[in-house]
Amino acid sequence: MSFDLSARLTERRAAHLYRQRPLLQTPQGVEVQVDGEQLLSFCSNDYLGLANDPRINEAFVDGVRRWGTGGGASHLVTGHSAAHHALEDALADFTGRPRALLMSCGYMANMGTVTALVGQGDTVLEDRLNHASLLDAGLLSGARFSRYLHNDAGSLRGRLSKAQGNTLVVTDGVFSMDGDLADLPALCAEATAAQAWTMVDDAHGFGCLGAQGGGIVEHFGLSTEQVPVLVGTLGKAFGTAGAFVAGSEALIESLIQFARPYIYTTSQPPAVAHATLTSLQLVREEHWRRDHLAVLIRRFRAGVSALGLELMDSPTPIQPIVVGSSERALALSAALRARGLLVTAIRPPTVPQGTARLRVTLSAAHTEQQVDRLLYALGQAHKELNDE
Ligand SMILES: *Cc1c(COP(=O)(O)O)cnc(C)c1O
Repeated sequence: MSFDLSARLTERRAAHLYRQRPLLQTPQGVEVQVDGEQLLSFCSNDYLGLANDPRINEAFVDGVRRWGTGGGASHLVTGHSAAHHALEDALADFTGRPRALLMSCGYMANMGTVTALVGQGDTVLEDRLNHASLLDAGLLSGARFSRYLHNDAGSLRGRLSKAQGNTLVVTDGVFSMDGDLADLPALCAEATAAQAWTMVDDAHGFGCLGAQGGGIVEHFGLSTEQVPVLVGTLGKAFGTAGAFVAGSEALIESLIQFARPYIYTTSQPPAVAHATLTSLQLVREEHWRRDHLAVLIRRFRAGVSALGLELMDSPTPIQPIVVGSSERALALSAALRARGLLVTAIRPPTVPQGTARLRVTLSAAHTEQQVDRLLYALGQAHKELNDE
């Protein structure tokens, strides 16, 4: 017996599920060169246009001069530098929580947090559309794991009534493939009534939602008591890399003691943390980025409606167009690419069967004219596919 990898790959290709990595030959931005072609991109998570900001780049270079390149060790050994620490203090201040813990990436932040908080004999309840890292974390934790209906407080209540042990309710803040907001006031009320804790992963809300970019908890005005565990990532709107967990003193100390993906990994390069301090300042102060995004979101939604295409219930820069089959999503993506636009097709298992989509994302770096160009191309591409 041997692994029949080629059969698996062939099968995936036949199902229109094969993945390829577009090769970026320029820095991240709205105009990129991909596989030799100049394209206007509508699919990054660089929502505020900070991934290649000259001031953050400069801070990164300054960070390298001060701190060198490598973290050199895990945080508990000698990898925890004053640069990491300063960013943690700034993130605690930003989120209005007693403390924050810097992690290497969001995937590990979720894995480490869920597994440190619940285990055998406990319960973890998750929205069925949660990000893969949260679902994986729930499974790995060893706690009883159950998924409630998307954003459905009633469905959550039913599961809470059967929960055992310490119970953690886990949800995306902004759902990464749909763009809608978690109904946190209702979900947190259910959790609190059942003495469960709520954990929110706001990877796509930080920077975009809330007057200061404080994400969904700022948007809804929720306290540390209502959302005891708050996760954010730094590779999206912040434009750098890494993630953080914010919460009480006891939560952060517990993660330092028990979160294995935190303990057993090298700290991120301190220069990245140093650069993120500048990024955080821009996220908080440059309100025009959020204001401009709001203008683009409104313009895009009005344009898509006028084309007669279906939109999802999203007030965020994530504006997916669900087309159904993976084959059709790929064809639409290819038709846009032929018109100079980069919008990737998102297919199962990233999204549920039959809901393949173009995940259009807007960035504060886009102009209104660029959004109009996308709308025009969408109309053309749609017509072309329907005529075939
Ligand atoms: C991107 C994402 C993550 C992973 O964060 P990384 O820092 O990229 O590892 C986690 N949760 C959600 C909801 C995400 O969208």
